[in-house]
Amino acid sequence: MIPSEKYTLNELEKKLEIKTPSIEQRIAPNWLRAQDYQLFVKRDDLIHPIISGNKWRKLKYQLLSVLSRKTAHADCHVISFGGGYSNHIHALAYCCHQLNIRMTANIRGDYSQNLTPMLVDIEQLGCEIKFVTKSHYKRRNDDDYLNELKLTHPSAVIIPEGGSHELALPGISELVKEFNHQYDIIICPVASAGTFAGLIKNCTRASALHGIAMLKGRDYLESETMRLLPKAELASNWQIHHNFHCGGYARKTLDLVKFCQEFESDTNIPIEPVYSGKMLYALKQLVETQYFPVGAKILAIHTGGLQGKRQS
Ligand SMILES: *Cc1c(COP(=O)(O)O)cnc(C)c1O
Repeated sequence: MIPSEKYTLNELEKKLEIKTPSIEQRIAPNWLRAQDYQLFVKRDDLIHPIISGNKWRKLKYQLLSVLSRKTAHADCHVISFGGGYSNHIHALAYCCHQLNIRMTANIRGDYSQNLTPMLVDIEQLGCEIKFVTKSHYKRRNDDDYLNELKLTHPSAVIIPEGGSHELALPGISELVKEFNHQYDIIICPVASAGTFAGLIKNCTRASALHGIAMLKGRDYLESETMRLLPKAELASNWQIHHNFHCGGYARKTLDLVKFCQEFESDTNIPIEPVYSGKMLYALKQLVETQYFPVGAKILAIHTGGLQGKRQS
């Protein structure tokens, strides 16, 4: 008989060599008015070289649930969604490879003639890649589409884009439990909103939560947050800032690129322009305009994603 592979959370983290808790690093960047605040960065980028940052936090309970279904009889298969540079797909493909889980990635757009470094990696990790059109990809969260997918792949577990599923929230609660201080302000990037929803659910009401929209998504990002966390509507300690996306998802301006270079040489913390850099660039502007009360203790969540820095 083939033994079923059931893991406890500890065994899973040990097997994948996850290094938590992540450190909270005090920073003193050379920004105007930076001395008016106590600034910290939670270095979730350091928890794993590949499954970095919020993707591990969001995936861990989903992977445990997939593994709990893995028996001698049931074929274990994960289907997920992402763009050609997706940190989520990259992290998930690595986990599936290490854990012997079959994976299919539905990738938005056709990169078959020009694979990105991320796609080259996941192909090597044994992930099956399906390029889908933008209109097909749009249906990724539609009930009728997901029901069809379940019917054609009855043994598969479908993990939504970005890993932002209800089961992502308990992983974010562990990040919150690691905090070494009571923070007045907590700031993080928002894309599929799972991380932000998890923070809203788990931080005390004494902290103000500021999400920075990584894409043009006024109202949409608020509703995604509330879809994951219906009770978020009741809390008044959170808001999403929509004026720092620099033109849209993965768009960058020269100022943003320059900021990222300066921040890295100033603090020795590596960042990239799609998420962590954009979020910290927003923080710099909020600090310089004294948006927050003077003296506030501010924590920025470094959500990782440094693989996305590689060019195709
Ligand atoms: C996916 C990702 C985010 C966005 O997090 P969501 O939970 O999707 O909002 C932020 N930072 C990095 C590095 C990411 O890879």
